[in-house]
Amino acid sequence: MKNLICTLFLLIGTMVLAQGTDLSDDYNRIEEKVIRWRREIHQNPELSNREFKTAEKIAAHLNSLGIAVQTGVAHTGVVGILKGGQPGKVLALRADIDALPVTERNDLAFKSTVTSEFLGEQVGVMHACGHDTHTAILMGVAEVLSKNKDKVKGTVKFIFQPAEEGAPPGEEGGALLMIKEGVLKNPDVDAIFGLHIKSEIPAGVIRYKSGGTMAAAQRFVINVKGKQSHGSQPWLGVDPILISAKIIDGLQTIISRESDLTNEAAVISVGKIKSGVRFNIIPESAELIGTIRTLDYDMQKMINRRMEEMVPAIAKAYGGDATIDIKSSTAITYNDPDLVVKMLPTMQRVGGKENIQIQKAITGAEDFSYFQEEIPGFFFFLGGMTPGTTESFPHHTPDFIIDDSGLILGVKTLTEMSLDYLNMTN
Ligand SMILES: [Zn+2]
Ligand SMILES: [Zn+2]
Repeated sequence: MKNLICTLFLLIGTMVLAQGTDLSDDYNRIEEKVIRWRREIHQNPELSNREFKTAEKIAAHLNSLGIAVQTGVAHTGVVGILKGGQPGKVLALRADIDALPVTERNDLAFKSTVTSEFLGEQVGVMHACGHDTHTAILMGVAEVLSKNKDKVKGTVKFIFQPAEEGAPPGEEGGALLMIKEGVLKNPDVDAIFGLHIKSEIPAGVIRYKSGGTMAAAQRFVINVKGKQSHGSQPWLGVDPILISAKIIDGLQTIISRESDLTNEAAVISVGKIKSGVRFNIIPESAELIGTIRTLDYDMQKMINRRMEEMVPAIAKAYGGDATIDIKSSTAITYNDPDLVVKMLPTMQRVGGKENIQIQKAITGAEDFSYFQEEIPGFFFFLGGMTPGTTESFPHHTPDFIIDDSGLILGVKTLTEMSLDYLNMTN
């Protein structure tokens, strides 16, 4: 009897484990294709809002799968809509497709030798952020899900997004333009998933964070007005350079004395100061330009408010005037905590519990955040470093390299997360 119970448990255990692994044949078949696509895209990188051939390749693939395709979304974006075998919710999966003006420096057989014009200059073009892997992974997910349409309870929207790195000056682009053009409507999307490959995370590992994951980026410009005088007679003028120094000092106290850094990190950096022409003239004005990074909207509001109070007040205290203008350039990549809790068991089942790890907040920004301002979303990081090595090169650099043995985990995770999410009743 005891043996029978044991056997029964074993059987049930095997059945539970088998859940989600019944697509293993599909995954085995798709891995080689995903790696091939990734290498082809890597060898043919295109800059933001110029992803013409990449878009053609994606559209041709989606068409071959019988998925309804929209092209020319936000210039070069491609959207595929897969209606599952059963009615249900609508889930979006997003991959960014653009490359960077970086000249590749390695010995890969599929290294990019492409050059292009960027801001009037001829530059090398490289997938130096790994968006080639995102594109290939999502093409793979589209193939596996479309071949298993009967298991899809609802609709999956595949969003291939241009210009994540930023549209060229004077152009719109990226996630914001896609949303403006209605990518989250008709059918209305309930939730969105996305991933980013990371050169410093070992292949086979996924890292994630609940809540604020990547920072909101804001740009600020401060104009300080003083009164010009001879350098030898400061008492006859108002020194805007001294006021600038006091302002910079003051701004740092907003971070070190007023921000609850145990909640989330926050950064204010002044990156540029422009003032003066000569050693013996106290100039009339100064301009300070900088960036603010926040991971929590309440903290962002407080920091912005305090900067707006402090800048003119400090200038006034020293007899001058100052104005500050703050503009947001990217929102917080905010992972909906409920969605994270819901999807974590799927990730752990697919990747193995020990391989699903917590990621610290990142003060860099990502425009996936705009989708998350509209609907709940989950954005996580996929390992791209050769297992067993410790050497990796940062994103956006000529030596950046990704080991494509980690891509299949991305395909599996997004596929299983899609099936499980659409199967959930709430
Ligand atoms: Zn990047
Ligand atoms: Zn990127």
